Amino acid sequence: MTVGILGAGQLGRMLALAGYPLGLDFLFLDPAKDAPAARIAPVLHGAFTDRKLLAQLARSSEVATIDWENVSLEALRALAGSGARVAPPIPAVATAQDRVSEKRLFERLKIPTTRWRAVGSRAQLERAMREIGLPGVIKTRRLGYDGKGQAFVKTRDDAQRAWEEMGTVGLIYEEWVPFDCEVSIIGARSPRGEIAIYPLNGNVHAEGILRLTRAPYGPPRWHRLAARYLESVLTRFHYSGILTIEFFVRGGRLIANEMAPRVHNSGHWTIEGAVTSQFENHLRAILDLPLGSTRPTGHSAMLNLIGSMPPAATVLGWEGVHLHDYGKEPRPGRKVGHCTLVEPTRQRRDRRARQLLAELAPGVRIP
Ligand code: AMP
Repeated sequence: MTVGILGAGQLGRMLALAGYPLGLDFLFLDPAKDAPAARIAPVLHGAFTDRKLLAQLARSSEVATIDWENVSLEALRALAGSGARVAPPIPAVATAQDRVSEKRLFERLKIPTTRWRAVGSRAQLERAMREIGLPGVIKTRRLGYDGKGQAFVKTRDDAQRAWEEMGTVGLIYEEWVPFDCEVSIIGARSPRGEIAIYPLNGNVHAEGILRLTRAPYGPPRWHRLAARYLESVLTRFHYSGILTIEFFVRGGRLIANEMAPRVHNSGHWTIEGAVTSQFENHLRAILDLPLGSTRPTGHSAMLNLIGSMPPAATVLGWEGVHLHDYGKEPRPGRKVGHCTLVEPTRQRRDRRARQLLAELAPGVRIP
């Protein structure tokens, strides 16, 4: 049985690695010749919108899924039109691609989110700043990731500068949240309606890029709230696959930042730190197989390797640390790999995570 995947990045590669023990085969579509999944699975090389390749992917696959939420909706519709079962549902992907639709969804489902305004002109930007106040953040409605397509706005001059740079595309202006911490929740739903949710992740970003995740994280009340919000989105879309929501936490309140209709960087720890990884559960969900247990096997920390890989011997010299090298060319700010440790206690995990950060990512601090 073959799973077709649009996008052959590290997420696709980890999906394939999780699927081989289940007897699954994979076929990817990606424009890049050196994409991370290309080392371990066949790839159709070409544009995501190439009708011929999409039809070939649809013909060859039991189900088609994504490793990148910004794939064109047209491509997903073409896949469905060629007879492929597409998971997650296209409306969920469409919502996650546009920050305005995402905010409206959160509001409809009574999931607290940042105060925001859609901005399409200088006058609307002025009005948004007046109504919401400063400081704030200007974000592109579409195609933002890892802090790209964002500008922190402290003064009116900052806003003018950001408008000059970004004003040609649709934007939103939202309040700046002086958060206590950031968390995310990841869960799977299968077409038969089964839902499985992982414990809450505590995330540390630097320059908009995730650096460290610890899980389980935070008091049970935060988990309960986040799980309830996640369930409401899963149910709303009759979702199949893995879905992630990221939150700011301020004064015990969870404020939704964004959602991702896919496996997520903050869930990489589940490969070694949970009974069933997020990658395996995504595959189980989209194939309507029973979902696996999301129970953590210990206290995990996952550290992203950014820019270039450290020598393997440095990471592997740490007892119990697991290394994942995505096989990517080094580039500043690029996620090239990650490593994970799983410890029997939270205290020991936090102590070792601090030591690992000091060696591999000096300058990144954790609370
Ligand atoms: P995003 O691309 O929206 O996930 O933003 C990337 C990161 O930028 C977030 O994880 C936060 O660390 C930071 N950030 C984004 N929006 C805000 C905001 N409104 N208030 C405070 N920090 C933010």
